[in-house]
Amino acid sequence: MPHTVEAVLRDELRRAGLPGHGALPRLLALLRASPEVHVTLAEVADMVAEAGLAMTSGEMARQLELLADHGLVGRLPTTTTELVFDTVPEPHSHLVYEESGQVVDLHVSPDTVLAMVRDALAKRPDSVEILVRFRRDPGTAPEPAIRITADKPEPDPES
Ligand SMILES: [Zn+2]
Repeated sequence: MPHTVEAVLRDELRRAGLPGHGALPRLLALLRASPEVHVTLAEVADMVAEAGLAMTSGEMARQLELLADHGLVGRLPTTTTELVFDTVPEPHSHLVYEESGQVVDLHVSPDTVLAMVRDALAKRPDSVEILVRFRRDPGTAPEPAIRITADKPEPDPES
Protein backbone atom coordinates (compact mmCIF):
# COMPACT_ATOMS: atom_id res chain seq x y z
CA MET A 1 0.00 0.00 0.00
CA PRO A 2 1.37 3.45 -0.84
CA HIS A 3 2.88 5.34 2.10
CA THR A 4 0.38 8.20 1.95
CA VAL A 5 -2.62 5.81 2.13
CA GLU A 6 -0.94 3.94 4.96
CA ALA A 7 -0.30 7.17 6.87
CA VAL A 8 -3.92 8.32 6.43
CA LEU A 9 -5.27 4.96 7.65
CA ARG A 10 -2.89 4.84 10.62
CA ASP A 11 -4.04 8.32 11.54
CA GLU A 12 -7.71 7.30 11.19
CA LEU A 13 -7.13 4.27 13.45
CA ARG A 14 -5.37 6.32 16.12
CA ARG A 15 -8.11 8.94 16.10
CA ALA A 16 -10.61 6.11 16.69
CA GLY A 17 -8.51 4.96 19.65
CA LEU A 18 -7.11 1.88 17.92
CA PRO A 19 -3.47 0.85 17.37
CA GLY A 20 -2.06 2.31 14.13
CA HIS A 21 0.39 -0.58 13.77
CA GLY A 22 0.21 -4.33 13.25
CA ALA A 23 -2.37 -6.02 11.05
CA LEU A 24 -5.19 -3.53 11.63
CA PRO A 25 -4.04 -0.84 9.13
CA ARG A 26 -3.43 -3.50 6.47
CA LEU A 27 -6.84 -5.05 7.02
CA LEU A 28 -8.51 -1.64 6.86
CA ALA A 29 -6.58 -0.86 3.66
CA LEU A 30 -7.81 -4.11 2.09
CA LEU A 31 -11.41 -3.31 3.03
CA ARG A 32 -11.24 0.25 1.74
CA ALA A 33 -9.68 -0.93 -1.54
CA SER A 34 -12.32 -3.61 -2.08
CA PRO A 35 -14.52 -2.98 -5.14
CA GLU A 36 -17.32 -4.80 -3.28
CA VAL A 37 -18.60 -2.59 -0.43
CA HIS A 38 -20.64 -5.21 1.43
CA VAL A 39 -18.44 -8.14 2.38
CA THR A 40 -18.97 -11.36 4.31
CA LEU A 41 -16.39 -12.87 6.66
CA ALA A 42 -15.58 -15.46 3.97
CA GLU A 43 -15.00 -12.73 1.40
CA VAL A 44 -12.72 -10.82 3.77
CA ALA A 45 -10.86 -14.10 4.46
CA ASP A 46 -10.26 -14.45 0.70
CA MET A 47 -8.94 -10.86 0.49
CA VAL A 48 -6.67 -11.46 3.49
CA ALA A 49 -5.32 -14.70 1.97
CA GLU A 50 -4.82 -13.07 -1.45
CA ALA A 51 -2.90 -10.19 0.13
CA GLY A 52 -0.71 -12.67 2.02
CA LEU A 53 -1.70 -11.25 5.39
CA ALA A 54 -0.81 -13.71 8.13
CA MET A 55 -3.94 -13.81 10.29
CA THR A 56 -6.11 -16.62 11.64
CA SER A 57 -9.82 -16.48 10.84
CA GLY A 58 -10.61 -15.91 14.53
CA GLU A 59 -8.17 -13.02 14.69
CA MET A 60 -9.59 -11.59 11.47
CA ALA A 61 -13.15 -11.74 12.85
CA ARG A 62 -12.04 -10.02 16.06
CA GLN A 63 -10.25 -7.25 14.13
CA LEU A 64 -13.35 -6.70 11.97
CA GLU A 65 -15.54 -6.42 15.07
CA LEU A 66 -13.05 -3.93 16.50
CA LEU A 67 -13.15 -1.83 13.32
CA ALA A 68 -16.97 -1.96 13.32
CA ASP A 69 -17.22 -1.10 17.04
CA HIS A 70 -15.06 1.96 16.43
CA GLY A 71 -17.02 3.08 13.40
CA LEU A 72 -14.30 2.46 10.80
CA VAL A 73 -16.44 -0.07 8.94
CA GLY A 74 -20.19 -0.55 9.13
CA ARG A 75 -22.37 -3.55 9.88
CA LEU A 76 -24.98 -4.29 7.28
CA PRO A 77 -28.47 -5.18 8.48
CA THR A 78 -29.09 -8.44 6.64
CA THR A 79 -31.95 -10.87 6.16
CA THR A 80 -29.72 -13.88 6.86
CA THR A 81 -27.68 -14.94 9.86
CA GLU A 82 -24.47 -14.20 7.97
CA LEU A 83 -22.38 -11.29 9.23
CA VAL A 84 -21.84 -8.69 6.54
CA PHE A 85 -19.58 -5.69 6.94
CA ASP A 86 -19.92 -2.42 5.06
CA THR A 87 -16.64 -0.90 3.91
CA VAL A 88 -18.36 2.50 3.73
CA PRO A 89 -18.31 3.69 7.36
CA GLU A 90 -20.52 6.77 6.88
CA PRO A 91 -24.23 6.27 7.67
CA HIS A 92 -26.25 5.50 4.54
CA SER A 93 -29.44 3.67 3.68
CA HIS A 94 -29.91 0.32 1.95
CA LEU A 95 -32.46 -1.45 -0.18
CA VAL A 96 -32.38 -5.19 0.53
CA TYR A 97 -34.02 -7.55 -1.96
CA GLU A 98 -34.59 -10.95 -0.36
CA GLU A 99 -35.43 -12.71 -3.64
CA SER A 100 -32.14 -11.89 -5.36
CA GLY A 101 -29.98 -11.33 -2.30
CA GLN A 102 -29.13 -7.93 -3.76
CA VAL A 103 -28.26 -5.02 -1.47
CA VAL A 104 -28.25 -1.52 -2.92
CA ASP A 105 -26.50 1.41 -1.24
CA LEU A 106 -28.48 4.63 -1.14
CA HIS A 107 -26.21 7.64 -0.97
CA VAL A 108 -29.04 10.11 -1.48
CA SER A 109 -30.68 13.01 0.33
CA PRO A 110 -33.19 12.39 3.15
CA ASP A 111 -35.94 13.68 0.84
CA THR A 112 -35.03 11.10 -1.79
CA VAL A 113 -34.96 8.30 0.82
CA LEU A 114 -38.44 9.33 1.99
CA ALA A 115 -39.70 9.41 -1.60
CA MET A 116 -38.27 5.91 -2.21
CA VAL A 117 -39.86 4.58 1.00
CA ARG A 118 -43.23 6.06 0.01
CA ASP A 119 -42.89 4.55 -3.47
CA ALA A 120 -41.91 1.10 -2.13
CA LEU A 121 -44.82 1.07 0.35
CA ALA A 122 -47.23 2.16 -2.37
CA LYS A 123 -46.04 -0.49 -4.83
CA ARG A 124 -45.68 -3.44 -2.44
CA PRO A 125 -47.62 -2.57 0.73
CA ASP A 126 -47.70 -6.19 1.92
CA SER A 127 -44.10 -7.13 1.25
CA VAL A 128 -41.96 -4.18 2.29
CA GLU A 129 -40.35 -3.84 5.72
CA ILE A 130 -38.72 -0.64 6.91
CA LEU A 131 -35.94 -0.86 9.49
CA VAL A 132 -34.74 2.43 10.91
CA ARG A 133 -31.39 2.14 12.63
CA PHE A 134 -30.25 4.80 15.07
CA ARG A 135 -26.50 4.67 15.07
CA ARG A 136 -24.64 4.99 18.33
CA ASP A 137 -21.48 7.02 18.76
CA PRO A 138 -18.52 4.94 17.63
CA GLY A 139 -16.48 3.71 20.57
CA THR A 140 -19.35 3.65 23.06
CA ALA A 141 -20.39 0.22 24.31
CA PRO A 142 -23.36 -1.27 22.48
CA GLU A 143 -26.53 -1.53 24.54
CA PRO A 144 -28.05 -5.00 24.91
CA ALA A 145 -30.85 -5.43 22.39
CA ILE A 146 -34.24 -4.30 23.64
CA ARG A 147 -37.33 -5.39 21.80
CA ILE A 148 -40.44 -3.27 22.02
CA THR A 149 -43.43 -4.48 20.11
CA ALA A 150 -46.03 -1.80 19.68
CA ASP A 151 -49.73 -2.61 19.31
CA LYS A 152 -49.15 -6.35 19.59
CA PRO A 153 -50.27 -7.84 22.88
CA GLU A 154 -48.35 -10.81 24.20
CA PRO A 155 -50.03 -14.06 23.07
CA ASP A 156 -52.20 -15.38 25.87
CA PRO A 157 -50.83 -18.79 26.95
CA GLU A 158 -54.34 -19.75 28.19
CA SER A 159 -55.98 -19.51 24.77
ZN1 LIG B 1 -23.78 0.02 2.36
